[in-house]
Amino acid sequence: MVEDNAKTVLVVEDNPANMELAVELLEVRGFRTLQAATAEEGICRAKAERPSLILMDIGLPGMDGLAATRLLKQDAQTAGIPVVALTAQAMEGDREKTLAAGCLGYITKPIDTRTFAQTITLFLSAQRS
Ligand code: MN
Repeated sequence: MVEDNAKTVLVVEDNPANMELAVELLEVRGFRTLQAATAEEGICRAKAERPSLILMDIGLPGMDGLAATRLLKQDAQTAGIPVVALTAQAMEGDREKTLAAGCLGYITKPIDTRTFAQTITLFLSAQRS
């Protein structure tokens, strides 16, 4: 098995504990990570650093993750970067909302530490095929 250690994941998350957990789980599996605590900062970092994948919290202060994803998908510079939603609202209709905004899929919080990094790897594989 070849590890995906060249892959960079941009984590957009305003909750410091969730950010720390996501980053730790990704880095222990060999991913590089970038961090942003707001949608605006996430969009800037996405344009500047072209990550392999963006993990986008939906509940953010100011602009929310769905609006940020729509902007990323409307911009030719970032439209090709897969966005995976991170949402605490595992409610009926949420999957449709994230897909309609342009997300490839979603991960529900609380983060499942056993499957999180593997799920990100699967989203990256899905995007490539
Ligand atoms: Mn949040």
